[in-house]
This record gives sequence, C-alpha cells and structure tokens, in this order.
Amino acid sequence: MSGDNSYCLRIAVNVPVAGTFSYTVPEGLVSRANVGCRVLVPFKNRKVAGYVLERIGGGNGKGLKEIWDVIDPEPLFPKPLVPFFEWMADYYIHPIGQVIQSVLPGGLSIKSYKIAHLTKEGLRALKGLQPNSEEKKILSWVRDNPGKGLPSPLQKIYGFQKRGWLVVEERLKRRHGGPLIKKFVRPRNGIDLGIVLSKRGGVLKARNELQFLETVFRSGDILSSKLASMFTNGSYLVDKWIRKGVLEAYRGTVYRNPAGEIMSPSPLPPKLYKQQELVSNRITTFIDKGSFSACLLYGVTGSGKTEVYYQAVKQTIKVGRQAILMAPEISLAIYLEGIFRPRLGDRIAVYHSGLSHGERYDQWMRMVRGEVDLVIGARSALFSPLPELGLIIVDEEHDSAYKQDRSPRYNARDAAVMRARMEKALVILGSGTPSVQSYQNGISGKYHLLSMPERIEKRPLPEVEIVDMKVAEGERPKSEMISPRLKEALEQNLTNGNQCMLFLNRRGFYRVYLCRSCGKPIRCPNCDVALIYHREENRLSCHYCGYYSETSIKCGSCGNERLRAYGFGTEKLEHELKELFPKARIARMDADSTRRKGEAIRILKKFGEQALDILVGTQMITKGYDFPNVTLVGVIAADFSLGFPDFRAGERTFQLLSQVSGRAGRGEQKGNVIIQTFDPGHYAIRAATSHDYQSFFQQERQLRDQLNYPPFSHLACLTLKGNSREETEKAARQLNQAIRGTLKRWPKRGKEIQVLGPAEASIPRLKGKYRWQILIKSKSASLMGHLLKRVEQGKGKAIQPAGVALILDIDPYLMT
Ligand code: ADP
Ligand code: ZN
Repeated sequence: MSGDNSYCLRIAVNVPVAGTFSYTVPEGLVSRANVGCRVLVPFKNRKVAGYVLERIGGGNGKGLKEIWDVIDPEPLFPKPLVPFFEWMADYYIHPIGQVIQSVLPGGLSIKSYKIAHLTKEGLRALKGLQPNSEEKKILSWVRDNPGKGLPSPLQKIYGFQKRGWLVVEERLKRRHGGPLIKKFVRPRNGIDLGIVLSKRGGVLKARNELQFLETVFRSGDILSSKLASMFTNGSYLVDKWIRKGVLEAYRGTVYRNPAGEIMSPSPLPPKLYKQQELVSNRITTFIDKGSFSACLLYGVTGSGKTEVYYQAVKQTIKVGRQAILMAPEISLAIYLEGIFRPRLGDRIAVYHSGLSHGERYDQWMRMVRGEVDLVIGARSALFSPLPELGLIIVDEEHDSAYKQDRSPRYNARDAAVMRARMEKALVILGSGTPSVQSYQNGISGKYHLLSMPERIEKRPLPEVEIVDMKVAEGERPKSEMISPRLKEALEQNLTNGNQCMLFLNRRGFYRVYLCRSCGKPIRCPNCDVALIYHREENRLSCHYCGYYSETSIKCGSCGNERLRAYGFGTEKLEHELKELFPKARIARMDADSTRRKGEAIRILKKFGEQALDILVGTQMITKGYDFPNVTLVGVIAADFSLGFPDFRAGERTFQLLSQVSGRAGRGEQKGNVIIQTFDPGHYAIRAATSHDYQSFFQQERQLRDQLNYPPFSHLACLTLKGNSREETEKAARQLNQAIRGTLKRWPKRGKEIQVLGPAEASIPRLKGKYRWQILIKSKSASLMGHLLKRVEQGKGKAIQPAGVALILDIDPYLMT
C-alpha cells in the first residue's frame, strides 16, 4: 500500500529511546507532512507523537510503517534547527524526541484518553444485569457519558470489551495552550460606507449607529468583543449589519501581549564611544561575512556593552536575518526588553519560562512565521525557531544560570556557539568577568577576543575596601552582620541622598538552628542539609525540597529542645537595617520576596526611580542592571560562595564580587565597595578587590591545569539516586566496575580518561533519595561521549534490579 511512495519521513518519536525512525506517508497526508510538523505514528503497539525531521526521497519504504496523522497545520520549527536538535541529543545524551518536546512551548504536547461506547450486546446485557451491581453501574455510566474520558482503573472496562459489550477507543486531547481564536468583524469586500449611508438616506435607527459603522470601517478588522465593550448595543449592531450584508464575521488568531511591566527606557545615545565603535565595526564585518564566527566581548562593568549589542542586532536585521539576545535571568531579560522595544518596535518577541503556556505558544508561532526580528529571553530563548538566524548574543556569559539543572542538562552558552556554527551565524559572548573557559578560548584564538577595558566617559571603577571579620583566638565571634565600617559608610551615603545595594548570598533569617547541647544543626528529613529559619512565616524550611517545620522542634540527634540560632540571611539583614536606619526606604530581592509574578521587576523599577534607598539581595541583584545613583555596594560575607564543594568556587566568588562591585559608581559620582570577609588573603577576593581579571585568570588557570579541570579537560558527573542507601551504593560500585572494565578494553585511549569515585554526593540525601556519584574527566570530548553512550546503553545491569536511577550530567556545574 505504501510501496510506491517516493519518499519516507525521518521522525523523532517522543519516547525515551535514542535515535530516529523512518515511516512512510499515506497519499492523503503527503502535502501536509512537512519538516517541523508533529505526526502521530504507531510505535511498539502504541500511538505516539513524533516530529518530522526530514523527507527522504527515493526509497521504496518497504517494511516501514505508515504515519497515522499529521497534527499541525503548519510547522513548529524550521529546517535549519534540525541539525542543532540532533547535536543536543547526541552531546547531552538525551532522546531527540524528548529534547524537542522540552524546548517547544508547553501545552502543545498531546495526551490521549480512552472513551467507550456500548455495543448492541452491551445494551442488551445492561438490561439483564442486577440493579446496583458494579457492572451495571459502569455500563450505565458509559451509556450516559458518551465521548467522556473513562475513569481509571480500566481493567473492568477491558473485561467488558472482551465480552463484546463495548468498544474502547483512544482520543487525543490538546492541553491548554495553542492559539487564542477570537471573533473579528470587518466590512465586506467592495462595500463602501458612503454608499451604504446614502442608500439609507443618511437615516440610521440607533443614535450611535453612524459612530459604530465608522469605527468598523476605519479599523478594517476589529474584535467583536471590543465593539461590544465600546457600544452598549454593540453585539446587536454587529448582528444587524452582518444580516444586511455590510459586515462579515470571521475567526482569527490574536496574540496575547506578554510585555508586562517595562522599565522606563534609557534614551538612545547620540554617538558611540571610541571603544564601542571599534568593537562594533569588527562585529559588523563578521555579520556581513555571513559565516560562522564566535566573539568574546570582554567589557568591564559599565563599559557600554548593551549599546554594542544593539548595533549588532540592527546590522543583523539590515542583512535580513534574525537575532537572539539571551540574559541569565528573566528579570534581566525584561530589563533589556525595556531598552530594545522602544527602539525596534513590535518585531520583538520575549521568550522565557515566566510566560504562560499560551503566551509562549503565541511568541513561538510569531517566530516560526517570520514575524520577529529579535527574540529576548532567558536560557530557553536559545531554541527560538527563527527561519534565518544570524546572531546570538549571550549576555553575562559566565553566569551559571545558563546551565539547566534538569534534563536535558545543557549549557545554553555552549549550545549557543554550536547553534551559531550550524546556522552560519555570529555568536557574541559578553561579560565583564568572562568564564575561565571562554577567556581561554579567547586567548587561544578559538574566539575573537574583543575588549572594552574602560567604563564609559572613563568613569573610574569603584574603590574597593576589605573589612576583615576574623576574630583573634579566644575572642567571642562577632555576632554582627554589619561591621562598624559598613555602618558608617551607609550613614554617609544616606545623608548624601545616594542609593546603596547590599549583597548577601543567603536567603532567610537565621542561617540554621543548632542544638545547644550537641551542637548539631536541625536538618531536613528528606535532604541532608540544615533547615533555614524564615521569619515572615516563622518556620524552618529546606531550600532544596521546600520541606518546613515549626521552630519548636527537638534536636534530631539528642532530643534536646533548647536550640540556638546561628548565622544570618537576607531576611535578617533587612530586619537589622530597618532597626539601624528607621527612616531609610529598604527593600529585599531574593527568591522568597519575588515569588509573585512581576514582583522582581516591580522592586527594580522602584529602585530605578529612586523610591528606595537600600536594596538588599542575593545574587539576583548582582547582574547587569544599570542604576547610576548607586554609590555604595556592600558585600556582607564574601566567603559563602567559597565554601561550595566545587572546583569553580573561586571563579564564582570572583565573578560575584566583581559583578556586585560593578553596580557601584556607574553614574557621575564615584562608587565605593565594602567587602566583609573572613578570608581577605584568598586570591579570588584579592583580585576582585583590585579589579584585576588578568591576575585572577592566571592563578585560576594554573590551578585548573594542575588538577586537570576544565578548560583543560571535559567532565561528566554520573549521579545514582535511589530509595535505599545500600542499593544505591551497590549500583554505583557496579556501574563504576563496568566503566573501568570498558576502559581497560581500550588499551590505548583508555588512559586519557580518569574515573573518580564512586563517592557519596556532597548532599548525600536529596528529596528523600540517596545519592552517589562518579566523576569522569577526559582530555577528549568525543572520547568521553563515546564512553558515556556505552554507559547509557549498558546501564540496565547496574541500576535496574536495584531500583536506582542514573542521571548523566555532561559539563556539570554545581556538583552538589
Ligand atoms: P555594561 O552592560 O557594559 O555594564 P551598559 O551597557 O549598561 O554597561 O552601559 C552603562 C551606561 O552607559 C548606561 O547607562 C548606558 O546608557 C550608557 N552608555 C552606553 N553607551 C553610551 C554612549 N555611547 N553614550 C552615552 N551613554 C552611553
Ligand atoms: Zn529537603
């Protein structure tokens, strides 16, 4: 039946299976089965959705199954994205169908449900059944609820089907999302308002009828609901004039406006500074070439990178291609939107996980249809389905938020370089504190290194002062969060009418509750971490799983009820500041205070309008914002990020301190930074103090080289999770044996790979699961990929009988 088809389809099936599958197409679907469309296909006796990746001509399709249906009337992604999806699946070792599903706007994925209808025998049986018997109840439910999804469990129903009483069918349900369709009204083709009016002798019945008709004719197309809200008799008039053949109604798609609240736009600068111009000119030549290039734009904080981005976007649009601008955080993306939208108008889309399903769908389809020149968004904007992508900008490229910590565990910065390569586009990685990896690529010539070493108008970088918080042997530890020096600076700054930002990388009120008798902290019962006190809710909560408990609990180790609060967080800092400076206007920005949608932007907006004096926050406030009136930045405890069990702890600390310092003195007045620390001699803290990226980079690079860490090697982290500690450990040991065994069989190249562990993870229990890890280091990425694919294929033996799950994390970030 399908033997004479001249082509078949290569399809990414949406199931957890590697690889793609070929199908043939029945006559009737040939014109609709295009690349980028979803199709329904039979797969292992199931009906599943898949994505068309390719039409392969010439084959005779013998032995292949046919697709059942094409779901989408138009493609969901353009052809040039396909190789990128395949790279994602291959590099991050994740089934391609699931990669695609995870990046498409939510609400598209289809689910099926079962319905049933009674047969003649079924109807007959129903009459004969005992009243009140369960069988009678089920059969009458089926009779009375045609087309409704069957309630589970379905065993009984299948039994009835066997007996021939009913037939079960599968139906597909579309989850919310998809286009918003509304009724529109417009004048019929060829109808002229003047003629309509003159025919009626200028006499219209209702008083506002003339106004109504003028409104419709003026706008051409108008939402019927809008007319109903403008004119009390609007619906009546719509019907009346449709009946008279003057107007017509149709159904059309409307776009929801996700712009939300936007920060007030900064004015267009009259002209570029010299360093901006030099860099922009280079970028223009890359864009004009139209081939792949990668640039690292290393511009100190406040050097004017945003303007360079704008020039690059403008040039890309000029050559007829589209651009993506990514920021590490949603609020930063919205902030950038506020700068770009007034300049570029409506051909902008915003795309991030803060939008609703419907909003994401709308933005996505605008991109596919070529209605968008620039997409601004967070990590997920990388997959924007633009037909002719010419530019990807990754702002604050060093930020770890580009790493997705759930499957597929990609790094959007690294993947951006790959996508640009595949679509012959330019990628610009921008940062004031480039990641060690990107800077290494810059000096080795893999990326073009563009630098902007000065702040605009040669404004000086802020003066950084260190306050040593250490206490001498035998002295009581200082309980204060705000040192006398910082307090004095705050007072001064408030008196001068300037603004201040205080950074503390811990949220909550008190850090932990310790038992006064045994000294142990109160821990989360699901995760092996201390619980944190939150004053607003007056309870202890876990920052990993959300577990919480009242504070009147006992010590889990010794049962003592006397607990002591120790440490501090942003909530406590805010509280103390309010006591110290009762007149100051203070706000806090962290994951707790910004849980409500739009709250982060509201706080930033208020701060930008100088309606606040002090902004307290976690790393959320360190990112690229530009608040010219901030002249003092305080870092409460620089050491917190050094304590992370991670080889990037030094890098992260340097970046955090430099970024947060970079918020000070961006306007006409000079800025000051005060860093409180217990470890003033640490190289990352010292380099941040003197704004010395080079010295930081040299030291860090040396350490990485010695320890064979990235960028001198590639890492993969294998985490095993299970309900039982013993089984998890056993699986980890078995997997480890298998990996080492494989390497032994590669006598030559096996030595290039180092296997560390297995070891208990640094958080040994998370959300109730025990965790063990194996770390793999390799000089060659492809060799590593090869090994991991073997592991993935052969993992069954190690983990299945034990009920343990394996998580593969390629280029891991935080190994907790
Ligand atoms: P960065 O992102 O590099 O930290 P920004 O792009 O935020 O720095 O720029 C810092 C400030 O300089 C902003 O207030 C911006 O409006 C201003 N600025 C940038 N370029 C120019 C220019 N050519 N002329 C005048 N002001 C500029
Ligand atoms: Zn927990």
